[in-house]
Amino acid sequence: MLPPPTPADRARRGTRPPRPDDERLNLRSSIPFFLCHLIPLLGFVTGFHVRDFVLLAVLYWVRLFFITAGYHRYFAHRSYRLGRAAQFVMAFGGTMAAQKGPLWWAANHRTHHQHADTRDDVHSPIRGFWWSHVGWILCDRSGATDLDRIRDFAKYPELRFLNKHDWIGPWALGVVSYLIAGWSGVVVGFFGSTVLLWHATFLVNSLAHVFGRRRYLTPDTSRNSLLIAVLTGGEGWHNNHHYYQASARQGFYWWEIDPVFAMLRVLSFVGIVSELRTPPRAVRDARPEPSPFDAGLVRARLERARDMLECERQRECDRELREHLRNALAATDDVLRTTRMRR
Ligand SMILES: [Zn+2]
Ligand SMILES: [Zn+2]
Repeated sequence: MLPPPTPADRARRGTRPPRPDDERLNLRSSIPFFLCHLIPLLGFVTGFHVRDFVLLAVLYWVRLFFITAGYHRYFAHRSYRLGRAAQFVMAFGGTMAAQKGPLWWAANHRTHHQHADTRDDVHSPIRGFWWSHVGWILCDRSGATDLDRIRDFAKYPELRFLNKHDWIGPWALGVVSYLIAGWSGVVVGFFGSTVLLWHATFLVNSLAHVFGRRRYLTPDTSRNSLLIAVLTGGEGWHNNHHYYQASARQGFYWWEIDPVFAMLRVLSFVGIVSELRTPPRAVRDARPEPSPFDAGLVRARLERARDMLECERQRECDRELREHLRNALAATDDVLRTTRMRR
C-alpha cells in the first residue's frame, strides 16, 4: 500500500502532471546561478565607472554573437560552413557566455526543434513559462550532453574538450575583465552582461513561443517579435526560424533586423564563413491559405489538454482542461467563419 501523502507532496500537486524528481529545481546546484544575479550589486562597494558599462555592452554584444551565430546557427543548425580553426574559435567564444558547452547547447536545441511544443520538447512553454525560461536548466535532467544528437560535431576532440571544460572560457574572460577594468569591471561589466545575456537567450525559448505574431503555419507556438529581435541580434524572428531552420538568416525581409546575419555576411566576404544558407524566395513568400488557421496553436492547446488528463488535482484540472479545449474549438470556429466569409 502507498504511504499517505506528506504536506510536501500535497503542495506539489497541481494542474500539471507530477514532475519526475530530475525535473524539479535542484536548489543546491542552482545557487551559483542565483548568486550571479546579485554580484553586480557589489558595484555599490567597488563603485560604478563609465568603463564598466562600456565593458558590459561590449561583452554582451560580442558574446551574443558567439551564442547566436555559433552555438545556434552553426552548431545546432549547420546553416553555414566554417574551417576547423574558425569553428574552434566560435565554440570557445560561445563558452565565454557561461551557457555550458557547444555540444550540450546545440544537442538540446536540436531536441527542441524536433519535438517543439510536445511532451518531448526540452523547454516548451506549454509546461509553464518558468520551465521554458530557466526551470529546464536548473534541474538535474538537462545536465548531461546527448552526444548522439550532435555526432557531427562530437567527432572533433577539441570540441569535446571545450564541452567538458566549459568553465575555462568564462573564467578566462573574468580575469581579462579584471585586468582591463579592475573589480568593478568584473562585477558590473562581466557579471552584469553575463546575467543579461542569459535572460536574452532564454527569452527565445520562453517569450518567443508566447508573445508576437505568427506568419507561418508551423506545428508549434513559435512567434516573430521585434522586441526580442532587438535584444538578441535577430533571434526574435522565431516563427521564421521554426519555419525554415536551415537558414542562417532569420529576419527574412529587409525590415526584419538581423545584425548577426549581417555580421556573418561580412565574415563571408573576407572568406571566414562560406555557404551561408537563406530561404528560397518562393518558400519565404509562402503564406497559409485561405485562412489564418493556426494548427500549431491548436495543436499546442490539445497537447496541454492531454497533460491535464494526467494531473492530480482533478477539479482544478477539469476547469483548465475545459478552457484549453474551448480555446482550441474557438480557433477552429474562427477558421470556419473566415472561410465562409471568403466564399
Ligand atoms: Zn533553432
Ligand atoms: Zn523555438
